[in-house]
Amino acid sequence: MHWLFGDQLGPHFLTPGDGDGPGRDTPLLMIEARSVFRRRRFHRAKAHLILSAMRHRAAELGDRLTYVRADTYRAGLEKAAGGRPVTVHHPTSFAAAGLVRALPQVSVGPARGFLVPMEDFSSWADGHGGKSLRQEDFYRWVRRDHDLLMDGDQPAGGRWNHDHDNRERPPRGSATLPVGRPYRPREDAIDDEVRRDLDRWEKDGDVSFVGRDGPRRFPATRAEARAALKRFLTHRLNAFGPFEDAMLAADPVMSHSLLSTSLNLGLLDPAECVERAEEEWRAGRAPINSVEGFVRQIAGWREYVWQLYWYFGDEYRHSNVLRHTTPLPGWWNDLDADAVHARCLRTVLAQVRDTGWTHHIPRLMVLGGYALQRGWDPAELTDWFHRSFVDGYDWVMVPNVIGMSQYADGGRMTTKPYTSGGAYINRMSDLCGACAYKPGDRTGEHACPYTTGYWTFVDRHRDRLASNHRTSRAVQQIDRLGDLADVRRKEHTRGDTPP
Ligand code: FAD
Repeated sequence: MHWLFGDQLGPHFLTPGDGDGPGRDTPLLMIEARSVFRRRRFHRAKAHLILSAMRHRAAELGDRLTYVRADTYRAGLEKAAGGRPVTVHHPTSFAAAGLVRALPQVSVGPARGFLVPMEDFSSWADGHGGKSLRQEDFYRWVRRDHDLLMDGDQPAGGRWNHDHDNRERPPRGSATLPVGRPYRPREDAIDDEVRRDLDRWEKDGDVSFVGRDGPRRFPATRAEARAALKRFLTHRLNAFGPFEDAMLAADPVMSHSLLSTSLNLGLLDPAECVERAEEEWRAGRAPINSVEGFVRQIAGWREYVWQLYWYFGDEYRHSNVLRHTTPLPGWWNDLDADAVHARCLRTVLAQVRDTGWTHHIPRLMVLGGYALQRGWDPAELTDWFHRSFVDGYDWVMVPNVIGMSQYADGGRMTTKPYTSGGAYINRMSDLCGACAYKPGDRTGEHACPYTTGYWTFVDRHRDRLASNHRTSRAVQQIDRLGDLADVRRKEHTRGDTPP
């Protein structure tokens, strides 16, 4: 028997590969373990999406697959396979990998759904001293190694990195970006059945969810995921690059691909996404900055995050060099956007509450930045992101939150902490215009919480930031502020009330 986890749903988990995949007629097993949903208070749309995708896959595979509903994975395995031998592809979390390794009847094959084998990354990282690893170096290595967007040994389009062209402010005077609409799936009877089950579990008091659910916004089948990729490539990839970092209140998606759930459920293979994006450039249908930007996200960032999760080891999740221990407040845990006055945070938190998704910059600069400034516990925040986002899985959340967003690893993943005052949010969005706070004010009635938060963060960590050439200027600036005592007082009086 071959066991498919709920994030191993695409055809590339069933091909023979180098002899490490299941045979053509090998019976398949999928286990829907209720305990997974009991462990955390997940966003309901996430629970719905995962169960819908698993049950759709089970329906497609028909009699070849045994679909077991059980309390735990162990109980499900016992029920379906007894003591018979079972194969599985490397799961995507330390917890699941530990579980399958501890089961004597299970043999674990290499991971699928990523471009670079883990051993190759380890060799690369060890070759770089294991310490000063940089995404840019890794990304260039992947491009060369996979002949991705290359002309011979040179980067296609003449440059490795088009970030410079991809940081435009949102277009003025327009509430939305003029691009084709993203793909939206249609629900079916399987979706209805999942929703009824979730209602029942909640009613029985067995599980508890957060956020709003329905209609389903993300693909649950391979066919839907392929349609979403096609729509992105033909109608939206063109505009992906320039406005990658911009935010618009009325247009949360802008030109982002919305493909993370499909990639993370294993419905899409990253290779097909980047190769097809390259084809669009080669055919003259998409500009290099958009195509390179998209390839960088998948072959660079996504791959890098996956590799670091394993390379840094299970202890990495406990990193907390800034010694941040403040618990997350209730309004944040409950996604209570209506309690918030700061327009940027209110808007983004409402996006998470209503859809379980917001794009990269709101995650990093609005949500992560707010938490970092307040000194919230990074492990608790990782758990919050994991629970609240439709595309959240342990492997992707741990490096993104601990490393990229909270700098809890002291710079193993990024060169500096990512946080800013209101000025950055104002420059990159239309979120500040109608806000009760003023991005330029750090004290007084209209002081922007991001601006006071930024300066108090720099103040608290001035020694560490002074010794980093990318942040030392902020420390010099703070020493010139005449009203630092007032800024501290302002931040102190806010406490953990919603800003
Ligand atoms: P696009 O902007 O269209 O990018 C294309 C693809 O690139 C994404 O679908 C994704 O697969 C990949 N990608 C880009 N950046 C990253 C990254 N840093 N890590 C992993 N993949 C990346 N991504 C997740 O898939 N799951 C998460 O749980 C997650 N949590 C995050 C938490 C924080 C604090 C931050 C800062 C980022 C997080 N990301 C996560 C990365 C990124 O924000 C999302 O992948 C992206 O917003 C998903 O939307 P999209 O598919 O439209 O992405």
